[in-house]
Order: sequence, then C-alpha cells, then structure tokens
Amino acid sequence: MKTETLIIGGGLSGLYAAYLLSRQERDFLLIEGRNRLGGRILSEALPSTAGSNTFTAFDLGPTWYWPDHQRMSRLLDELGIENFRQYTNGASRYEDPQRGVESFSNPGQMPPSFRVAGGMARLIDRLAEHIPTERLRLSNRAAGITLQGGHLEVAVRGAAGTEQNIRADRVLMALPPRLAMRSISLEPALPVPVHQALLAIPTWMAGHAKVVAVYDRPFWRDQGLSGHAFSHIGPAMEIHDASQPDGPAALFGFLGVPAQERRKIDPAAVRAAAIAQFERLFGPEAAQPTAIFLKDWIDDPLTATEDDLAPLYNHPEYGLPAAAQHLWDGRLIFCATEAASSYGGYLEGALVAAEAATGKPST
Ligand SMILES: Cc1cc2nc3c(=O)[nH]c(=O)nc-3n(C[C@H](O)[C@H](O)[C@H](O)COP(=O)(O)OP(=O)(O)OC[C@H]3O[C@@H](n4cnc5c(N)ncnc54)[C@H](O)[C@@H]3O)c2cc1C
Repeated sequence: MKTETLIIGGGLSGLYAAYLLSRQERDFLLIEGRNRLGGRILSEALPSTAGSNTFTAFDLGPTWYWPDHQRMSRLLDELGIENFRQYTNGASRYEDPQRGVESFSNPGQMPPSFRVAGGMARLIDRLAEHIPTERLRLSNRAAGITLQGGHLEVAVRGAAGTEQNIRADRVLMALPPRLAMRSISLEPALPVPVHQALLAIPTWMAGHAKVVAVYDRPFWRDQGLSGHAFSHIGPAMEIHDASQPDGPAALFGFLGVPAQERRKIDPAAVRAAAIAQFERLFGPEAAQPTAIFLKDWIDDPLTATEDDLAPLYNHPEYGLPAAAQHLWDGRLIFCATEAASSYGGYLEGALVAAEAATGKPST
C-alpha cells in the first residue's frame, strides 16, 4: 500500500491534519492505534444516553479552551459546534486537615474558560465526518519506520496481530514525541542527542487522572457555591463544575495523589474517597451520584510512558529542538501538541502543529 502522507495518530493534531489535507485534496492515510479517535480527548456518555442523538458526555481528558485560543474558536465555529462558558458563579470551597472546610470567594481571579456543549469529543466526531472513512484506519499501530531512498516504509500492526507495510513519501508523527521514541523504532536511528531531546519532552497531562461524579441537578448552586474547590486532603486536589448546560449536572476533580502512588490504590477505593470528599465539600446530596467515571492516563500505553510518572509542576516550554525540525530531509515530521511552536501542550497547540505540518498559512 502507498500514500503521499501517512499520519500516525488520530488525536486532535492528526485528525486536524487529515481534515486540512482532505480540503487540499491531497493523498493521505491516517492510522490510529486505539479503536477510537480522539487520543487524549475522551468524553464518556452516560450508559442511558450512549448512542442517542442527544449526545451528552463528560470530559475525562481536556475540558477547556481559553479566549486567546483563536484556532479552537474558529474551528468550532466552522464545524457548527456550540460552546459555553465554564460555570464559576458563587463561592469556592477549600479544605485542609487543620481548618476543615471553608468557603471563599475569588471574584475575577479565575481566567474565563470555555467548554464544548455535549463534550469535547464532539470536535473529534465533527472533524471525522469531513474525512473520507477509507482514509481512517482504527486499531492500526505503527511499530517501525525505515527510510529507504526517497520514501519511508512504515510497519503497521493491526488489532488481530496482522502486519502490513505502508509506503509513504512523508510521515506526520501526530503522537507525543516521548511516546514515539519509546514505541516506534526508526531505521536509521536518529542521532543520539536528537533522540534524547525528543525523549525529554514531557507529554502534557499524561501523569494525571480525573474523576467525574454525575448528579440529577447542580444542587451546590442552591447554596451559592460554584462547584470549584481546592483541597489539601484529597483525593481530588482541584474540583470544578462539569455540568452540561441542558443536561445532567456533574463535578469533576483532578486527583492529587502522585501517579506512582495511585498505582497502589484500588480504583474502587479512589471512587469512594472522591464521593466522600465531594460530600464534605458540597453537602449530603453529593453522596448520591447517578454515575461516576475515573480515568487514569498514566495507565494508558497510547498516551503515557514510564517517564511520565515523574510529576510536572509547571507547564513546560514546548516546541521541537532545532535538530528535530528537519529530519530525514523533511520526511519525518513531529506534529502533536508537544511539537507546537506556540500553545504547546494545549488543544490549541495541536492545531498549531497540524497547520505547520500541512503547510496551512499560519493565522
Ligand atoms: C486529563 C487531561 C486534561 C487536559 N485538559 C486540557 C484542557 O482543559 N485544555 C487543553 O487545551 N488541553 C488539555 N489537555 C491536553 C490536550 O488533551 C492535548 O493538548 C491534546 O488532546 C493533544 O492532542 P494530540 O493529537 O497532539 O495528541 P494525542 O491526543 O495524545 O493523540 C495521539 C494519538 O496517537 C495515537 N497513537 C499513539 N501511538 C500510536 C502508534 N504507535 N500508532 C498509531 N497511533 C498511535 C494515540 O492513540 C492518540 O490517538 C488535557 C489532557 C489531559 C490528559
């Protein structure tokens, strides 16, 4: 099999690159290792609504974009997807072992952030609708890439253990550089300093875990609470309102327990501790969620590697080192969000990187 551009990875960067190439009427193929598109974008529907037309789902990966993320705003508009502002009205909660639970107000301190109505995965679904299905191959994982004269041979493994080689003029590596270095062999090998530099790029949020509790109504708002909280007790360290505007209510939290420690804890115990924490912070109604979702990204081999166990305390300076910008005569191109020249790590960065890789004039 032959193609002009092979895209490895069907997260936002890979799918947006496919969308742009499709509009340019270029020849391409996208392979995705998972049996779903979206990568770190993952929205879980309630079992009762899954498959129905009123798609309401809760984000276990990214939730927000911000006013300066203009590519995101434009793309959502272009695809006809509604947004809404993160709910922040009312007081926040804080808890620590000494002082217990307290309320505080922080007017104007939280930057405004926006969410996608129905869940962030709607962006993925809508992008995919614009790409011919025969160009998207799920459950196909790249295992190795060989430079052979003027083209690349990519060894691809299918779900049933099938193996296939795809010949491409160029490859877009739309997966985190660190993950690529750990899981895809390159022949000839990259120079050691380039390999090491790519391996050193942390995969944004790969070491994090999210818990979402779903309720019939946003009862905390009746008490003048925004649903926002900080905790020094845990298991969640930062909590937000995750309700959909016209759907069920929800609270979500980022777990504060470091990834290494989480591996020793039974997920059922984490769920129970999160519900108990939401009850402490928001009252007795929080003890009765209609559903609870937990997603630990560190245990997902198509996002995280063992290198991502080390906690990240600040947002890294992303972007490719100069030596990794023109590999194999420009045939091997890194284009996940971590490779972006601006907004690296964010959804916006995934769009920046895909635009650069497909030659879309930057806007
Ligand atoms: C918990 C969490 C919260 C976040 N919150 C926010 C937020 O609020 N706002 C924000 O802007 N960003 C947030 N982010 C970051 C955001 O998710 C990423 O910026 C974005 O999704 C990255 O998209 P990507 O396509 O570059 O990479 P990915 O989504 O990681 O896509 C890579 C794809 O490659 C596939 N793949 C991997 N290996 C192979 C292989 N060998 N062969 C084929 N396919 C392969 C993967 O399955 C995946 O689909 C968050 C991330 C997480 C995990």
